[in-house]
Amino acid sequence: MNEMFEMGPIRPPSEAQSLLIRVTRNCPWNKCEFCHTYKGEIFSFRSVEEIKSDIDRVKEIVDGIRQTSWSMGFAGSLDQETLRAIFSRSARYGQAFQSVAGWLYFGGTQVFLQDANSLMVKTADLVEIIKYLKEKLPSIERITSYARARTLAKKSVAELKDLQQAGLSRIHIGMETGYDPLLQYMKKGVTAKEQIQAGKNVVESGISLSEYVMPGLGGKRWWREHAVETAKVLNQIDPDFIRLRTLYVRPDMPLYKKVESGEFIRLTDDEVAAEIRLFIETLDGIHSTLVSDHILNLLEEVQGKFPDEKEKMIGVIDRYQSLPAEERLCYRVSRRLGYSRSLDDLQDPDLRRRVGEVIDQVRRSGNREETMPPEKVEKEIYSLMENYI
Ligand code: SF4
Repeated sequence: MNEMFEMGPIRPPSEAQSLLIRVTRNCPWNKCEFCHTYKGEIFSFRSVEEIKSDIDRVKEIVDGIRQTSWSMGFAGSLDQETLRAIFSRSARYGQAFQSVAGWLYFGGTQVFLQDANSLMVKTADLVEIIKYLKEKLPSIERITSYARARTLAKKSVAELKDLQQAGLSRIHIGMETGYDPLLQYMKKGVTAKEQIQAGKNVVESGISLSEYVMPGLGGKRWWREHAVETAKVLNQIDPDFIRLRTLYVRPDMPLYKKVESGEFIRLTDDEVAAEIRLFIETLDGIHSTLVSDHILNLLEEVQGKFPDEKEKMIGVIDRYQSLPAEERLCYRVSRRLGYSRSLDDLQDPDLRRRVGEVIDQVRRSGNREETMPPEKVEKEIYSLMENYI
């Protein structure tokens, strides 16, 4: 069995159970200040034949796994128990085999088309690829992809409808902000007007739309405008999903130099919470589901469906903001260490003890005589987030 097929580096958190099929390589834009993913990599198209051949490889692996099931006495079954047994032996096979076995384990129903902008592919070619995927792997129920708003603004609704009918179920757009000066500053290569056009095109086509927003992106200078103008753009689109992914600035991002020089001043966690509160307050007249499914987000519980759960979401932020400073610090460290998913976790005495020890250690580190100043404590907590990207 030739078990190789090509996979790109990333997918959205909600596609963790999806099979990854690489349609293009890297990002055709690759200039955003806050993005490190494809820096130094050149964008290229893959031919339809190359992609079909990858799909054939996946099909061969699925067939191979079914044969293994027979040989292990499971009568060709691909239920979870069988797949667990096969997966436990899969270390001797490559990443492609493990990824297909894992995909089947989670139902074998979802596919994510990589990389950053699959909608660059000619519509007729993408339709052909999607149809081939569904023909070869009939268990597929959902096919999703990232796309740039500028590309989508230029696609006709008729083309998007063709893709929807072929089986493209959802498009994820990295909107990040709807505030034009910030879009320019971050070199996003798109305007708020194009974002609105792109979003409306997708909604009209019947493809589910997920818009990613980046809390913290406005920094100290533009946090209010970022919150309000982004919400206003989304109010015009009314996407199915609004997903939060908080800014984290790594040294390999262009933005890092601006942070170091003091040109871009990052928000603290508490300031980001205030920004998200203003953002949610400004969202109006929509029926979207807000999702906080990225580990970089401080408050995972800020999620729900508009309009009914708007007040509930604001209530979570109010609850966080009303905590005493030391409690907020405890929760932040707990979250950044991966211990907490909810403010209720602060009720757990064991967790509080463990987190308290870490905070004491951080405060005392560096100098035995003096306590670390608060801004350095902030820096230490911020650096914990690096583990997640
Ligand atoms: S368009 Fe997306 S993938 Fe490309 S540089 Fe910007 S954020 Fe990164």
